[in-house]
Amino acid sequence: MSPHMTLELTAACNFRCPYCYCVWHEYPALAKGELSTDGWQAVLDKCAADGVNDILFTGGEPLLRRDLFAILDHARRVMPEAELSLFTNASRLTEPLIKKFRRRRVRLATSLQGLATYGAMTGTRRSYRRLLCVLARAAELKWPMAVSLTVTRANLAEACDMFVAAALSGAKTIQVGPMMVGGRATRRLDLMISSKEWADVKAAIRALPDAHVPYMFCDEFVCTCRPDLPPELVERWGDREGKPCPAGKAFGVIGPNGIYRTCLHTLPTSSADEKENVVFTSCFSCFQKNL
Ligand code: SF4
Repeated sequence: MSPHMTLELTAACNFRCPYCYCVWHEYPALAKGELSTDGWQAVLDKCAADGVNDILFTGGEPLLRRDLFAILDHARRVMPEAELSLFTNASRLTEPLIKKFRRRRVRLATSLQGLATYGAMTGTRRSYRRLLCVLARAAELKWPMAVSLTVTRANLAEACDMFVAAALSGAKTIQVGPMMVGGRATRRLDLMISSKEWADVKAAIRALPDAHVPYMFCDEFVCTCRPDLPPELVERWGDREGKPCPAGKAFGVIGPNGIYRTCLHTLPTSSADEKENVVFTSCFSCFQKNL
């Protein structure tokens, strides 16, 4: 097992982001039969035994799990010095919860999906304002959150404003990337920007006054693990090879039902039948078998 693991605690989510790359939107079998509390605790025992020292808890939306803190507390018990972090859409994040995460030294990360486009980009009627308030409160509590921004054709015009809003609201770090092929996004390729538009976004952000918030760009449009790259996208980006993907070497992923896979965004298979009933070969191990 890689020392860096992502645990997708649930496939449930109260948002419907059109760019959501969660793999179960393409491979429904990966969302069936979520692990119980005991199941995740067994996964964490295995992580601890294998020397994992960095875990990102995500989903779906992990705050929808009622047993979230039972899982996190177990993680802290068996891995007292590990880096633990949690990625949430922050819709349910409150001040008492931020304090609970801080007490357990669980770092927090979220995404700002848009400003005027926030509702459209989350598939909800919500406004970005609450998210910015949460970011500001977390910073005041000395537990600032990392923020990621996904640039799409819908929010392209406000990408710089999103960056500034996150920075001024107290983001700890900001990660900016273009919408990638994967999950639900495979049905919304119209929302993906071109490599030229992406280069322009990066130049515009670099030209902003320094907000003294560390930031990084993710240049991946298509995960190199993906075997079925849509030809029209090759043309749009002119980048057939992409960047070498560290999946499986630098990190591993355990999905909601305990299936281990190497890549966050896809599986090395593409036929329609396989997508419906993922055939797990020896490269996938299933924690459920051993529970
Ligand atoms: S991107 Fe995150 S918040 Fe949006 S639908 Fe997917 S899991 Fe939910």
